[in-house]
Amino acid sequence: MIQVKGYAAQSVSSVLTPFSFQRREVGPKDILIDLEYCGICHSDIHQARNDWGESIFPMVPGHEIVGRVTKVGAEVSQFKVGDVAGVGCFVDSCRTCPNCKENEEQYCEGHRVGTYNSVEKDGKTPTYGGYSNQIVVDEDYSLKISSKLSLDKIAPLLCAGITTYSPLRHWKVGKGDRVGVLGLGGLGHMAVKLAVAMGAEVTVLSHSPQKEKDARRLGANHFISTENIEISHVFSNHFDLILDTVSAPHDLNRYLKTVKKDGTMVLLGAPPESTQISAFSLILKRRNLAGSLIGGIKETQEMLDFCAEKNIGSDVEVISAKDINTAYERTLKGDVRYRFVIDCKTF
Ligand code: NAP
Ligand code: ZN
Ligand code: ZN
Repeated sequence: MIQVKGYAAQSVSSVLTPFSFQRREVGPKDILIDLEYCGICHSDIHQARNDWGESIFPMVPGHEIVGRVTKVGAEVSQFKVGDVAGVGCFVDSCRTCPNCKENEEQYCEGHRVGTYNSVEKDGKTPTYGGYSNQIVVDEDYSLKISSKLSLDKIAPLLCAGITTYSPLRHWKVGKGDRVGVLGLGGLGHMAVKLAVAMGAEVTVLSHSPQKEKDARRLGANHFISTENIEISHVFSNHFDLILDTVSAPHDLNRYLKTVKKDGTMVLLGAPPESTQISAFSLILKRRNLAGSLIGGIKETQEMLDFCAEKNIGSDVEVISAKDINTAYERTLKGDVRYRFVIDCKTF
């Protein structure tokens, strides 16, 4: 076994503290990655606090992972020692269901193995994520990373990047399409950069008026402060697509009214509470309400290559391991521009 250092939440009410644990030896198809950076996704906070009700403790969160390959198994063909590799939200899947066969392993109908808060295919070994100094992953669930951009800026692409790229591609966003981005956080700021790069006319809908300058710097054409206004009076039947990245409960009907006929609002944010939809929000303009989960390995690679070509990375604040708990508190307050990334050499 390989001895690893990381940070874990021991229970739903505890802060994260140093944690030593073991990972499996490098198998024939595995690569060992010495981690450089791991982003802090709001999903890490939801899960460490058991917001979604399925948490396994101790929990080592982290699914926005980049590092350097230091060992490869005998049958590994896609990576060699010294390569930069990435790991996202899952590290294995059934590989045989229709969704896996269509390269959409995120929607695996069998056993999708999460990078953390999950169990391996043996049904019992817990998985531990990227808040650590090393990880062992099957090469088929690892991503190739260009070293063109600095790696701290790439780490958040492994979740925030693919989660916003995938729906933009699925709904075929292109030149001149009107895209609304609801919530300017980790996911939201990547949504803006990616939609702008695809040629869309982008509007940020934010409850933080102080983010307007940043929104415009990121490339947004318009910024609307959503507090205390009736948004449908500003944008009526306007958007082709809204990406909703808000992590807390909010009224979807307000925003649905801004979607044009046959347009779509996609839920990416995952507040634990359910929400009420008025039928009229949808039927009056044949609107669609959808959800989308991260992206498959093939599409994640496509997104990484797209970002390398367009020079797109995340805006990050790099922190040491000891600052993880402060970073959680600041993220919950919306006080991050726009992703905390842990320097994994500090574990
Ligand atoms: P984040 O960085 O904390 O950003 C969330 C944004 O939501 C905030 O910046 C804020 O934007 C807005 N917001 C927060 N509290 C709000 C409130 N009370 N009222 C209105 N707006 C509020 O989080 P993130 O990492 O981007 O993740 C966002 C959500 O997506 C989380 O729920 C996460 O679990 C989920 N997620 C889903 C997937 C998926 O596959 N679908 C993948 C990753 C994450 P403004 O200040 O601009 O309003
Ligand atoms: Zn995430
Ligand atoms: Zn499957």
